[in-house]
Parts: sequence; structure tokens; C-alpha cells
Amino acid sequence: MVDSLDPRALRLGVSRCLLGERVRYDGNDRHDPWVVGHRSRADDGRPLHWVGVCPEVEMGMDVPREPVQLEGAPAMPRMKGVDSRVDHTPRFQQWAAGKLSELGVEDLDGYVLKSRSPSCGLGDTDLFDHRGKKIIGRVDGLFAAALRRTFPFLPLTTEQSLEQAGRRELFLQRARLYRQYKEMVAMGAEPSLLRTLHEEVHRALETFGPPEEEPGKKGGERNREAEEREKTGQERLEEAYQALLQRLEQGGRTTKELTEYGQLLHDLFESLDRG
Ligand code: SF4
Repeated sequence: MVDSLDPRALRLGVSRCLLGERVRYDGNDRHDPWVVGHRSRADDGRPLHWVGVCPEVEMGMDVPREPVQLEGAPAMPRMKGVDSRVDHTPRFQQWAAGKLSELGVEDLDGYVLKSRSPSCGLGDTDLFDHRGKKIIGRVDGLFAAALRRTFPFLPLTTEQSLEQAGRRELFLQRARLYRQYKEMVAMGAEPSLLRTLHEEVHRALETFGPPEEEPGKKGGERNREAEEREKTGQERLEEAYQALLQRLEQGGRTTKELTEYGQLLHDLFESLDRG
């Protein structure tokens, strides 16, 4: 349920084991010092509110329990008991449908997931073959994949990524921008709100964007490529902003333009997070 604590608080989803709850298959937790140390405030004093979810416990699995793993096709992995071979996928799907609509009501601004977990991992969970014997790739955990599908612009990260101070700041800034974007959409996207958001985006890019190359000093091939990619992303965002602004000032329908702007914003900050 949504509480009525501080309405300015960023609302962040989190894997419950990171909060220090003993919900893992082996009866332990994965207490994350940064998450636990910032239960109510970020370093800059701004309020945070965490919404903990443990997919495996909440779908009805015990603590402790048999470990599970993902198997089969990368686009549609199954979650199976490592020894029993019990397929937990249908139970997960039934639980996830209700949980995702609850999280829609929570109106989350970001999400910190436990890396490498068959439920919560973010692109780093081992995928086994159909027999469950051989690792054939890395995918999202089932819950992380469902979050991505349901909330395509929601900033997602892992506790591993947040080990770096710069990434923590980038994640919180992304969450703030995402919230501002949602508020703009909810309030009918008027030009002054879009301008304010876009100025914030520029400020964030100045802080977190790739460093400018010194004149006359050439970087390596890979850096030049990365820089080009960022420039292209920023240019595309600028174009989308101008198109959206024009539509808003003309009083035209903006759904398509708003979605494009949101997508570009998401893609650009994802690329900074990866870079
Ligand atoms: S399912 Fe997710 S929240 Fe639950 S113990 Fe595993 S990683 Fe942690």
C-alpha cells in the first residue's frame, strides 16, 4: 500500500534480502550497507522510501528452500528446482501479475535488484540448458524481466553497480528525472514543465555525461566510438524535445512524442550507467 509519509521521498523498490531480511534460499540475507544505511535519506538529506519485495518468498516458497535456476530458451526461461526439477514458473507468473499491479500503485521511481538471482538478477543471471546442466548464457531474473516489460522507463540497478559512488549518484538522479517525467505526463505535459525537466536533464548530463576530450588530444578508438554514441543520443533527445515542445505549444496530441522523449531519456541514461 502507498503510505502517506513524506510526499517528496523517492520511492525505490528493492530486493528484500538487500534490506537485511533473511529471505534467501539458505536462510541468510544479503544485507547491503549502502541500502541499509540510507533507509530514510540519501547523502544529500533528501528523503528515500524503500518498498521491499522478495519474489520467491512472496510467491509462496519456504525459507530455507531448495535453490532454483533458470533454464531453457533465453527469451522464455523456466525457473526450476536445481535437484527436484520442479517447475516454479507457473506459480511465479500467477503471483507476478498481481504484484506488478500493486507496484503500479506504489508508483516507484527506481529499483535496486540483487544481482545474479534467478528472480532478481539484472542481465547477469546464469541461464542453463534444458537439462539444467550447462550454462548457456546470462539473462534477467524472472522478476527483473517482468519489471522491465511492465515499467519500461523505470531506472533499474543492482547492489553491485551501486558499489561505486558515482553510480549511486547517477541512479538517484535518474530516479528523480523519471519522477519528474511522470509528474509532467500526469499533469498534462505543458511547455513550462517540459522546459524545467529538460533543463534538469542537461544539468544531469553535465555532471554524469562522458568527459569532454581535450582539444588536440585524441582518445583511443573505443573512446571515440563511445563519445559518438553519447553525442548521437543527446542530439536525438534534443530533437525529440523540440518536437514535443512544438506539439505542446500548438496544443496538439502528444502521446507519441511523450513516449519517444521518455524512451530516449531512458536509453541515454542507461548508456551512461553502462559506460
Ligand atoms: S528472490 Fe530476490 S529478494 Fe528474494 S532472496 Fe532471492 S534475490 Fe533476494
